[in-house]
Amino acid sequence: MTEEKGINFIEEIIEEHLKEGKYQQIITRFPPEPNGYLHIGHASSICLNFGLTLKYGGYTNLRFDDTNPVTEETEYVESIKEDVKWLGFEWKNELYASDYFDTLFQFAMRLISKGLAYVDDSTSEEIAHLKGTPTAAGKNSPYRDRTVAENQDLFERMKNGEFKDGTKTLRAKIDMAHPNMLMRDPVLYRIKHAHHHRTGDKWCIYPMYDFAHGQSDSIEEVTHSICTLEFVPHRELYDWLIEKLEIYPSRQYEFARRNLTYTITSKRKLLQLVNENHVTGWDDPRMTTISGMRRRGFTPESIRDFCTRIGVAKRENMVDMSLLEFCVREHLNKIAVRRMVVLDPLKLIITNYPEGQSEEVFSENNPEAENSGGTRSIRFSRELWIEKEDFMEVPAKKWFRLAPGAMVRLKSAYIIRCDECVKDSTGNIVALHCSYIPESKSGHDVSGISTKGTIHWVSAAHAEKAEVRLYDRLFSVENPVADEGDFLSHVNPRSLQVIPEAYIEASLKDAAKGEKFQFIRKGYFVVDDDATAEHLVFNRTVTLKDTWDKERKK
Ligand code: ATP
Ligand code: MG
Repeated sequence: MTEEKGINFIEEIIEEHLKEGKYQQIITRFPPEPNGYLHIGHASSICLNFGLTLKYGGYTNLRFDDTNPVTEETEYVESIKEDVKWLGFEWKNELYASDYFDTLFQFAMRLISKGLAYVDDSTSEEIAHLKGTPTAAGKNSPYRDRTVAENQDLFERMKNGEFKDGTKTLRAKIDMAHPNMLMRDPVLYRIKHAHHHRTGDKWCIYPMYDFAHGQSDSIEEVTHSICTLEFVPHRELYDWLIEKLEIYPSRQYEFARRNLTYTITSKRKLLQLVNENHVTGWDDPRMTTISGMRRRGFTPESIRDFCTRIGVAKRENMVDMSLLEFCVREHLNKIAVRRMVVLDPLKLIITNYPEGQSEEVFSENNPEAENSGGTRSIRFSRELWIEKEDFMEVPAKKWFRLAPGAMVRLKSAYIIRCDECVKDSTGNIVALHCSYIPESKSGHDVSGISTKGTIHWVSAAHAEKAEVRLYDRLFSVENPVADEGDFLSHVNPRSLQVIPEAYIEASLKDAAKGEKFQFIRKGYFVVDDDATAEHLVFNRTVTLKDTWDKERKK
């Protein structure tokens, strides 16, 4: 961010370009490789690319960078489209690098005819061997001086499938002593007899990243091609190829890859978590994939808010997971209706309330919403469930909840006094006997009694049951990849706690998949995809407060 203008460095570049009249409109692209599901790092790239063209006018393409036939699958293409849409963005064109294979082949022929590319019979080991080191120049390949005609013939025959994998490559003819190692005759094409998810068996030669990405940008007349910092050294080759091919001059700009604490942002490692069953799938609610976060109950608004807050950086750093959770809470606080759910039940009997009787009490749906969402009716009766943790037989200091002789308000209902705690023969507390103050009904309270504590409850006769899944962070350390290799040993063993039968207030019975709630005093929850009409399942999206650091230090 620049202090005076409050815009990031890429916006600064674009504003300069627009001022100079360099472009009529801004064209960006989001270029995922369809080899996995999108994660929170991609969300930041999506928000940046789409955000720029929304702000400055122009459009963004969704381009699948599908030049590697081996790792790519149609399932990934579909999930990527769904995720970008869900985040709230619309692409202008849905494009595939593989649609450019014919054009890219022509481009390669153009370089060959200019004497700027050659077919090399060296093995990859030989190529690596002759490459030199950053401090020592490389050596020319013995095949470097083939004639244009010979190269044209061989490249055509590579395409026609005459040669085996790895026996030949097409290389740019630049400079084996170039200070930038990537400019030392980089490989442009390799032979790979593999089935491609779109082009089938039409091709057995595939372009390398450097001979596909910039060229695709150019074909689409992308003005600002934004990528992450590891591509800085590629920029020289990006520009060289565009210049020599005399094609549209797209330009590359780099920003820092986004990493988040307590999670990983690498498709390869996320895939490993899935394949080795550390999670139930790409959309496991503990995964910081977009589909996982959606299932966890995060909203697109909160993810976009997070991406805006972290902005665009020039240097890599770790972003705190707490910030993402904060953004989620902020949004859910406004949109999630409040409900009462008891996760760890203790029976509470109001001895002075008539047996068999029940009455209606009203509770606000969302006091934080712009239009409060009104109230709902809840049944109150003699036997209730409350949370075990809301009672202490020997109360601690400043304990404002239930204890023998203490008074609390039952949310939206009456004030009660705890008269007795009932134990079984082994001394376990099995129920509380309380009495209620009839004049203290919420909204009509004339009791004159004030209580410091308010607890939630559900009526035992009216409550429904549901499974509740309490999710926590997937890793128990800030940076699970700090000691490269063994990130799996840092998987948090307590990242999922299942409560098979929680008591939910009756109004939750018809909650639909994806519907979001605040369970009062317990956190934000969403109905999971596994839910059925007979068996409701809720996921905890996030707790009400950031308790992670405190818990960890216990
Ligand atoms: P991964 O290492 O997870 O496979 P990738 O960079 O190979 O990531 P791509 O599918 O190639 O994944 O990424 C598509 C776009 O998203 C690229 O422009 C890439 O720079 C960007 N991107 C990927 N990961 C991040 C991240 N952590 N932060 C910001 N941008 C990212
Ligand atoms: Mg990649």
